[in-house]
Amino acid sequence: MTEAELETARQEMVRKQLQNRGIHDRSVLDAMAKVPRERFVAAPMRHDAYADRALPIDCGQTISQPYIVGLMTQALELSGPERVLEIGTGSGYQTAVLAELAREVVTIERHRELSQRASEALSALGYRNVVPRVADGTLGHPAGAPFERIIVTAAAEECPPALFTQLAEGGLLVIPLGGRDYQTLRAIRKIAGQPQAASLSTCRFVPLVGADGWTE
Ligand code: SAH
Repeated sequence: MTEAELETARQEMVRKQLQNRGIHDRSVLDAMAKVPRERFVAAPMRHDAYADRALPIDCGQTISQPYIVGLMTQALELSGPERVLEIGTGSGYQTAVLAELAREVVTIERHRELSQRASEALSALGYRNVVPRVADGTLGHPAGAPFERIIVTAAAEECPPALFTQLAEGGLLVIPLGGRDYQTLRAIRKIAGQPQAASLSTCRFVPLVGADGWTE
């Protein structure tokens, strides 16, 4: 595909997969109209970069469907000054969308190879407000807490307590919760230290694997 064809596919993705399905936050639509998703998938899959589904990446993981990225990002209600903690860097695509909308993104990945590749793609695109780390994200990132926003892009049975602890008062945490195969996307707000949860959609994520998650 040529650059022009990819650009057309990107704008069509925003219209058909996001706007037509109720993603209305202008800043999220603009960010996703800008971030070149093809730079986060392997070369042979580039022609499918804007397909309406998740795609395989290395280490048996996936880059989320564009609609799910839009839905999760919109649910974070970013306005610019926030510091975001992301668990599950994967390809780095969601990281790039967050980096367009927030002050800083600390992103944690358990697979060194994925973190490395994502970091290279993000640097090549000029993102300077991303801090990549290789670690077990179920424990969060205590040294950087509190975070105004936390996003988990792998599935857990319950929200790891460390993550809620590291969420700032009034902050928002978005996470897929449920079984190993199917989950519900939840948006949890911290109000007076207590969680207030809302459900966004059903979804399918790869498991969150770690000390406070699933075993491999
Ligand atoms: N947001 C990513 C989706 C990645 S899939 C994207 O847009 O490409 C989920 C990722 O979470 C996988 O890369 C997986 O390795 C990672 N992961 C799973 N458990 C983890 C943990 N405990 N800590 C950090 N990363 C984890």
